[in-house]
Order: sequence, then C-alpha cells, then structure tokens
Amino acid sequence: MNNNNKIRVRFAPSPTGHLHIGSVRTALFNYLFAKHNDGKFLLRIEDTDTERSSENMIKNIIESLKWLNLSYDDVIVYQSDNIKKHKQSAEKLLKDGKAYRCFCTKKDLEKERKSEDKFHKYSGKCRNLTDEQINKNISEGKKFVIRFKTPEGVTKFKDMVYKDISVNNSEFDDFIIMRSDGSPTYNFAVVVDDFDMKITHVIRGEDHLSNTPKQILLYLAMNKKVPKFAHVPLITDSQKKRLSKRTGAVSVDEYKKMGFTPEGLINGLVHLGWGTSNNKTIYTMENLIEKFELNRVSKKRAIFDIEKIKWINGKHISAMSDEELFSLVVENWKNNSLITEENIVSEKKRLIKIISLLKSRMRLIPDFVVYGEYFFKSPTKYEQNAIQKHWTDTEIKNLLEKMAIEFKNIRKFNLDNSEETVRRIASENDIKAGVLIHSLRLAITGFSVSPSIFDILILIGKSETIKRIKLAIKFIEKMNIRL
Ligand code: GLU
Repeated sequence: MNNNNKIRVRFAPSPTGHLHIGSVRTALFNYLFAKHNDGKFLLRIEDTDTERSSENMIKNIIESLKWLNLSYDDVIVYQSDNIKKHKQSAEKLLKDGKAYRCFCTKKDLEKERKSEDKFHKYSGKCRNLTDEQINKNISEGKKFVIRFKTPEGVTKFKDMVYKDISVNNSEFDDFIIMRSDGSPTYNFAVVVDDFDMKITHVIRGEDHLSNTPKQILLYLAMNKKVPKFAHVPLITDSQKKRLSKRTGAVSVDEYKKMGFTPEGLINGLVHLGWGTSNNKTIYTMENLIEKFELNRVSKKRAIFDIEKIKWINGKHISAMSDEELFSLVVENWKNNSLITEENIVSEKKRLIKIISLLKSRMRLIPDFVVYGEYFFKSPTKYEQNAIQKHWTDTEIKNLLEKMAIEFKNIRKFNLDNSEETVRRIASENDIKAGVLIHSLRLAITGFSVSPSIFDILILIGKSETIKRIKLAIKFIEKMNIRL
C-alpha cells in the first residue's frame, strides 16, 4: 500500500466526562484496525462544546489511553483549532447555493412546531430568501444559523458492520451546520475534520448510525470522497440497558482502581462485539492486532459481563512475570499496611516468591491483598464452612498440637522436612495426609484453599507457623466450650 491509500482512522472523544469504557472499546477497534492494516490511529478531541468540555477531561482521556497502551500517531487534533476551516467550508456551501442563512428566531420556530411534535422538521422557510432580504437582515444585525439544503433523493451506503443502509432524505430537514454563535454543529465539524485528517474509515458507536446519511450528504455537497463507515454495536448491561453509572463502573479510572491490568481490560473489552470463529478468549495485544478484522464485528448488542472480564484479567495476571507484577502488587500491600517501603527493598526475593505463588489465582491486583494477607500476618478469622469441615473432629486439636511440637524440633525448617513431618504424623495416626493438610491450611491462612501449604510455611517461617497453629488450637478450644 502506498502512502496515499494508507488506512487512517481516528478516535474522536468529546471531553465532557471521564473516558467511558464504551468509548475505549471504540478506540480499541479503531486502534486494532489501524495496526492490523499498517495504518494510522489518530486522536481528535472534539472540544467545541466549550461549556461541557474541560481541560481535566482532556487530560483524563490522554492519560487513560496511555495507561491502556492505545498510543495514537501524530499530534492530537483539537477540533476547536479547526473553527476557521469549518467557517470556510460553510461559506463555500453558501456560495455554491448548497446551504443558506436562516434568520428564524426561536419564536418563529416554535410557531412552526404546531404541536409537541418530536419529529418536527424545519419548513425551509428561509431557503429562498432573496439576496436583498438577506443583506437587509444582516445589516439589521439579525442573528442567523446556516442550514444545509438537504437535497431530495435517497442516501445509500454499505456500513462495514450494519451492511446496506438506505434512508430517504425526506427524513431530514434542512439541518443546521453552523450555529448563530459561529460554532459548527457535530455533523458538520466531523465531516470537515475527517476530510481534513484524510480519514479513510470512520469506526464509531452505533448511536451515530443515524448521523451518517447526513454526513454523507455533506461530503457529496462538498465534492469530497466519502470514507467507509463501520458502526460498532452498543454495549448493554445484563438487563439489555445501556451501560450507565447506575449499573456499575463506567470510566477507565474506576477499572484501574478496581485493579484491572490494561491488557486484561483490553482483552475483556475486545469481546464486546468482536470474536474469532474459534471462540478463543485470551489474547495479547499482539495477537489482537494480528487477528482483528472488522468483518468479525457483530451488530448484535454486546452484553457487558463484569465477571467474565475479571476472569480474563486473571488470566493476564497469571501470564505476567513476577517482576512485572512486583511494583503493582507491592504498592497495594504497602497501601494496606502489610509491608513498608523498607520491606520492598530488603525482602524483594521473598515478596517475589509470594507473588509467584499467588498469581495464578488472582483476578484483580487487590486480590493479592485479600488472599495474600496471611503471608504478612496471622489470620484474624477463619472461613466458617472450613471450620465445620476441618476442625470439628475431636482428634484435630491433638493432631495440630503434635504438628506444632514436631515442627519445633526441626532444626532447619524447609519444604521437604515440613511436608515429611505432616505426612508422618498422618500415617502414625492412621489418617489421610489430606485431612491434616486441610486443617493446617485453615490454621495458617484462614482459608480452605490456598497455594501449596508447605510453600506458605517456608515463606512465613517456623516460629510464625507454630504461633498460628497455637492460635488455631486456642480457637478450637473456645469453640468446643461453646458447643
Ligand atoms: N465526539 C463524538 C462522540 O464522542 C464522535 C463521534 C464520531 O466518532 O463521529 O460521540
């Protein structure tokens, strides 16, 4: 492909709120499509709505994209810098007789709209004003908007996802392209900017599908090449309602705070509307770039399933190296007062081992706190079901006592001899080793499941092991009194 027909796509958020995960999915599809085709992924900030846009939100969008590794090419385009171009293009349409000044006031328009008709279309009253009337109105300082002269006919296009779309232009009125304050409307600005940025494919949310015929009419009126369009399906919650704050987290920040990794979140979001024929779920960004095709985007509404995305995130966590996880995890441990800044340096080797033991079971980074706390302090509570299952046998207290005594006698407490001791006590008492292991695990971790208990014993050390067994014995004694 030579440079002239290189694929160029853009992500065009309006900075009126924190980056929404639905928008991230749109950005992601644009990014993957561009990278798969060796094209460019551009960022345009649609900041012409000065009242609702803010610097902070722009910063948030840029930082979120950076965190997600969705890096854009070239410099960011700010729509507000293009106002001059929007004006010039509107002037040209006026000159060509394809747009006109409309001096109707709010009152005039209200009069036109006889009833509460939501679908009311502007009558086109100002379409045929004479030059004289126009000049008179202007000289009298009357305010005007610029409206597009919607032509008759049918607008057809082939959406890359929604396929053949055909709309009768009579569905639209002469819509406004420039407001009376000189600012462009969305449909107009987007066309001028997309053309200016040489965008070849417009990939965006399905909610814009109804805008596309208007935009195509504008391209045609300006004698510009119409780009290809691909609208991606809406994301809904399990009740088929549009994803909103009411039903859960919607901004990238919230997902970051929850402890998603960028790769996990990306992998979770890519399945909202896209998938390969083999139903594979776990992808790295590299895999995605290689596999992504727009023709595998479905027009079916995509249901957001947070549990599935957490599960996917867990797969990414377990695929990360211990070193990669280190800074993320220790930060969480530190913030929860499990370790200090000093521990991070002096105990790095031990901390890495803990991460390595835990990572295959974690779905979110803070899980390392919830399920890893026992590496740093004795459990303060024990799983209720596990107590019933593993600590109610009358012999268990004695067996735990035996373990504590035998462990104490081991000079060099290590993996082999701690395990050998537990197995020996089990066989001497004619019970399965599993029974002892389960009750020991509960004593040490407070949980019924954990990584290998012997690995844990070595990481917390002999005296801490013995201390926790004694605490468990005390707990069992108290429990037995109560019973
Ligand atoms: N600023 C618009 C939005 O955030 C962009 C739509 C488009 O991609 O054309 O919805």
